[in-house]
Amino acid sequence: MIFEVLTIFPELIECYTKYGVIGKAIEKGLAKVKIYNLRDYTSDKHKKVDDYPYGGGAGMVMQIEPFYNALKEIKKDGKPRKVILLSPKGIMFTQETAKSFLTEGKGIVLICGRYEGIDERIKFFIEEEISIGDYVLSGGELPALVIIDSIIRLIPGALGDEISAKEDSFMKGFLDYPHYTRPEEFESMRVPEILLSGNHKEIAVWRKREALKATFQKRPELLKNLSPEDMKILKELCSEINKKIMEEAYEPVNH
Ligand code: SAM
Repeated sequence: MIFEVLTIFPELIECYTKYGVIGKAIEKGLAKVKIYNLRDYTSDKHKKVDDYPYGGGAGMVMQIEPFYNALKEIKKDGKPRKVILLSPKGIMFTQETAKSFLTEGKGIVLICGRYEGIDERIKFFIEEEISIGDYVLSGGELPALVIIDSIIRLIPGALGDEISAKEDSFMKGFLDYPHYTRPEEFESMRVPEILLSGNHKEIAVWRKREALKATFQKRPELLKNLSPEDMKILKELCSEINKKIMEEAYEPVNH
C-alpha cells in the first residue's frame, strides 16, 4: 500500500514512520510512505507557500499552486489513487474507514494543511475531505499519520501476531477486553483468576463478556446487530449491574 504525503514538514512524517509496527511494515515492504515537500513545488524564489487571505482577517492561507504542482507530478504514472484533504471540516475517520481504504487497495495521497488552511480551490483536486475528530490541530501531519498508522496495522503481516489486530477495539463492533501481564499481584491487586487457569475456552468466554461489558458501559452506541448469544450475555450483565445498583442504594447505614 502506498501513501503519498504532501506537507511543509517532511521530517514529522519521516520520524514517526521509522519506528515500531509502522517502521517494520515499511522495512518488510508491506507499505511505502513517500513524502513531498511542498516548498519544492512553489515558483516563489523564497519557497513561500502561503499568503494573506482575500477579504482580510487573521492568519495566512496556503496557496493552491504548490499542491497543484505536486499532485500533477504524483499523478504522472497514471496509477489509481485516492486524494484526501485533511481538514476539521471533513467526514470523521473511523476504523471502518481504515478497513474500507485498505480493501479498496488504491494508493492514498494525504494533503496536509497548515495556518488557516488551504485555498478553497483545492476542492477541485481531491476525492475526500477527512477529519480525525472535532478539534483543531495546527497541521495535517498528525491526522495523516493517524490514517497511515491505522491502515498499516490492518495489512496482513504488519503485526507480529495477526490475531491482535482482529481482537482490537472496533474490529468486531466491541471495545477490546482488559489485558494483564506479570506480576500476578501488584499492591494487593490480583490478576483475575480465570486468566491464570489455563482453561482457554473459559478465558475466551470471560474475554467476550468483558468486551461486551466495556462497550456497554463506555460506548453503548456501538452495540448493534448483536448475535442471540451476545444478547444473552448482555441481559445477564444488565441484571448484574442493576442488582449492584440496588444493593448499593439500599445498603443499611450503620449509626
Ligand atoms: N481554520 C481551519 C478551521 O477552523 O477549520 C483550521 C486550520 S488548521 C489550524 C490547519 C490544518 O490542520 C488544516 O488545514 C488541516 O489540514 C489540519 N487539521 C487540523 N485539525 C484537523 C482535524 N481535526 N482533522 C484533520 N485535519 C486537521
